[in-house]
Amino acid sequence: MENKVLVETKDLTKEFPTKSGSFGKNRATVHAVTDVNLQIFEGETLGVVGESGCGKSTLGRLIIRLLDPTRGQVFFEGKDLGKMSIEELRSQRKQMQMVFQDPYASLNPRLRVRDLIAEPLITHKVNKTAKEDTDRVEDLMRKCGIRPEFMYRYPHQFSGGQRQRVSIARALALNPKLIICDEPVSALDVSIQSQILNLLGDLQQDLHLTYVFISHDLSVVRYLSDRVCVMFLGKVCELGVTRDIYANPLHPYTKFLLEAVPIPDPKYRKDQKDMLTGEIPSPVNPPSGCHFRTRCPYATERCAKEVPKLHEVAPGRIVACHLFDK
Ligand code: SF4
Repeated sequence: MENKVLVETKDLTKEFPTKSGSFGKNRATVHAVTDVNLQIFEGETLGVVGESGCGKSTLGRLIIRLLDPTRGQVFFEGKDLGKMSIEELRSQRKQMQMVFQDPYASLNPRLRVRDLIAEPLITHKVNKTAKEDTDRVEDLMRKCGIRPEFMYRYPHQFSGGQRQRVSIARALALNPKLIICDEPVSALDVSIQSQILNLLGDLQQDLHLTYVFISHDLSVVRYLSDRVCVMFLGKVCELGVTRDIYANPLHPYTKFLLEAVPIPDPKYRKDQKDMLTGEIPSPVNPPSGCHFRTRCPYATERCAKEVPKLHEVAPGRIVACHLFDK
């Protein structure tokens, strides 16, 4: 059966103007996301990985149009979100939700859990009565593993893991098709992380959800993702099926990211030469040609002159590196 495309991005780009220097005289541009072309299939989890500042969170916000792109398009079920009126976009947003890294910051501390989860139902006038809203909140709390009798508590009365369950219940309130999970377990203890990942996995099965799972943690991404997209300095450098990426990383940056994953056994201490060194170049003034060239041990003169294009090196596997040019 052919995979159905739920979301497609075309040349998606976001630049942020900034001011620097005294009195803001020297304007500069942060190239946060550059020419991202992706297809996200219905029912899959697409993991997006990269170091801090690689543009993965900005990409998530662009996909659900929390940010307007500088150029490029996002299609949801074939419809261009950029051509929708404010009303149409508001209605479309029911299908696209986001779960953030820090549930304490993303939940209004003055609202009780019942009101936090019911808020989207009330905003979109889903039910006719408050009783129906409360019934739906109860149902969502059960689905997310929170006891419904806690619905009149405030977020600060819950642990970090429970608060993230509340955020997930709130994200599910409008029966979305797509959820952008932006580092949803990074702020949690390791033992709690696996519970939240299992919950996300179970909900995906039951509700046929599609996830974009953004994380800097490659082990977490591996656990949940069907495909993985690796980003460096706002660009996609490699994309493929999770097992292929982890078994045989092709792009030098992907290799270094995987080699940087710590192994909890001193016998397997990694050689320093295998480690990724150097600072991430500035997105205000990225290197010419390949953005990764200042950290890449395989860089040649060509890498400084020519931007590597994404090539399909095997079905569904794309890489942007001159080493793989045909
Ligand atoms: Fe390294 Fe050149 Fe490939 Fe960039 S294009 S990853 S600099 S070999």
